[in-house]
Amino acid sequence: MKRTVPGVSAAVREMLLGLGENPDREGLRRTPERVEKALRFLTAGYAQDAKQLLNQALFTVSYDEMVIIKDIEVFSLCEHHLLPFFGKAHVAYIPNGKVVGLSKIPRLVDMFARRLQVQERLTVQIAETLQRFVKPRGVGVVIEAMHLCMIMRGVEKQNSVAVTSCMRGAFRTQQQTRSEFLSLIKKKHEGLG
Ligand code: ZN
Repeated sequence: MKRTVPGVSAAVREMLLGLGENPDREGLRRTPERVEKALRFLTAGYAQDAKQLLNQALFTVSYDEMVIIKDIEVFSLCEHHLLPFFGKAHVAYIPNGKVVGLSKIPRLVDMFARRLQVQERLTVQIAETLQRFVKPRGVGVVIEAMHLCMIMRGVEKQNSVAVTSCMRGAFRTQQQTRSEFLSLIKKKHEGLG
């Protein structure tokens, strides 16, 4: 028998009641629908497909130096509290005959960020997906993020940042490659106005 999926907006209304609120007062009347719409947007990554995203944007080139996209904005929801965590992702890879369109990397980050996540898994998913579809010599992903579930509840001091990383291939085996990546992401945008 198929399990019926409860409506999100109906569940939000129940939640408001459970919190002792009056879901029929003016400010809350359309809140269940608004929350559902927001949550559907913030979890739209479930419906996206990495293969489709990356395979159409692979190009054959002889470039074999490190490609880095840094300071990619990340907004995600922690799966433990359904509260946002947000920050920056830095993604690098060393091509092995193929490069991926630069704009696809932030879109790949969004695809995995727009799901219920933990920062560690988000980091690994980005790295492993690039490894799988682009087949580079190596991939490095670093995410620096602040978690509202920690900050707002006073679990952590304001401004504390969680840093996660996932290194594959040359980024794992070659100290020099990893160091180059880590020092490049620390640099500010010198000379870029
Ligand atoms: Zn949390």
